Amino acid sequence: MTDYDVDLFVIGAGSAGVRAARMAAGLGVRVAIAENRYLGGTCVNVGCVPKKLFVYAAHFQEDFAAAPGFGWSLGTPKFDWSVLLAHKDREIQRLQKIYAGLLENTGVQIINGQASLVDAHTVRVGEQTFSCERILIATGAWPAIPDIPGRELVVSSNEMFALPALPKRVLIVGGGYIAVEFAGILHGLGVATTLCYRGDRLLRGFDNDIRDFLAEEMRKQGIDIRLNTDISRISQTADGLLAHFGENQAIAADLVLYATGRTANTAGLGLEAVGVALTDKGAIQINPAYQTNIPSIYALGDVANSFNLTPVATAEATALVNQLYGHSASPVDYDHIPTAVFSQPNIGTVGLTEAAARKRYPDIDVYKSVFTPMKHTLSGLNQKTLMKLVVERSTDKVLGVHMVGADAGEIIQGMAIAIRAGASKAVFDSTIGIHPTAAEEFVTMR
Ligand code: NDP
Repeated sequence: MTDYDVDLFVIGAGSAGVRAARMAAGLGVRVAIAENRYLGGTCVNVGCVPKKLFVYAAHFQEDFAAAPGFGWSLGTPKFDWSVLLAHKDREIQRLQKIYAGLLENTGVQIINGQASLVDAHTVRVGEQTFSCERILIATGAWPAIPDIPGRELVVSSNEMFALPALPKRVLIVGGGYIAVEFAGILHGLGVATTLCYRGDRLLRGFDNDIRDFLAEEMRKQGIDIRLNTDISRISQTADGLLAHFGENQAIAADLVLYATGRTANTAGLGLEAVGVALTDKGAIQINPAYQTNIPSIYALGDVANSFNLTPVATAEATALVNQLYGHSASPVDYDHIPTAVFSQPNIGTVGLTEAAARKRYPDIDVYKSVFTPMKHTLSGLNQKTLMKLVVERSTDKVLGVHMVGADAGEIIQGMAIAIRAGASKAVFDSTIGIHPTAAEEFVTMR
């Protein structure tokens, strides 16, 4: 027994915090967790979960459009935003209860309120003070909106999950995950959607073919994508908002969504008082063992500006708890992180982009296939799928797998296992395909 009130005090009950707290408690560690907003954090409340539900909702538009090609005749489908919101809220409440149950059942003490550090071993929440052997900060990140004139007129993705009504015209600023996902959602729900990105290609960091192909597919659907368009200010007019760019050019909209990245959620934590070091981007600085410069204080997930993906944050939490309290420490493999963008169509990707592979290896082969998925031979919709493999010629090792198309997010998970296992192109080629699927293309590309 220690002299501390708790062995581990977790600040932030998002994906990472909850995972760490309940795992540690399951190993007999005395754990408390503080949360000042909502159990489940961004992912459950204003991120992955409600976003994916909205993606499903938006996708019906394509299904309705495709249905006549298969013999169905439909009336005019009607969409009710308030129904979707209510059902989404019901699901989130259910998940919040599950999170609370998971914590309570393992004996974690849940404390509602803003926690701040008093010293290296003390946390205060309201009037309560806890002495703790170790402290884990897992407070996530928060939308970052640039400081432009009219900033107060725009919203972030947080507000998109509770809009009182669906606007007729939305302008999205940004070219990352959230921007392209919301472009697909809003367009699918019948909103006239414009996306402005300051660069010349959406989704920096993704394979260039994927970036170009997705933009093309989105444009074909009717999303107005404006590249090299840097919004300088927002103004209010009698019938909505104007987003200004260039020399006297502007785009009119009823709502402007800024999806311009997220920054570490460190406000109010008392980090300065205790001397916890930050990176130049404002994230908590950690070593490979998730430890800050104060040995008893740890941080992981988005607040430490990791990969900003839920499964990475939870993997880090698992690794930390194993390292501190478990029998075996298995580090997170940061080299093979698959990711999906739930744009319409989806992107699924794992491993190196072609450009990154060419920089790292002298001999690269690229296999690429663009085709009309079987569904669209009858749907009448002009949609294509892109699949791409990046292979090191000398070893035959598959270095990267990339896809834009229906269900890419589902398909890429299996590909990630293959890449992680070090599969060669010969292994892909000798794997029996599943016919007829789009996925089989990955084992038939020559
Ligand atoms: P991203 O970092 O993905 O994209 C931010 C975008 O905003 C970039 O296009 C960036 O441009 C642009 N931008 C940044 N600053 C400015 C500025 N001052 N003016 C104009 N444009 C600007 O962030 P998101 O907000 O889209 O998402 C945050 C994170 O959440 C993601 O990185 C991802 O890790 C995670 N996420 C994951 C999802 C998933 O797994 N499916 C879904 C949603 C979010 P530039 O490229 O030029 O810097």
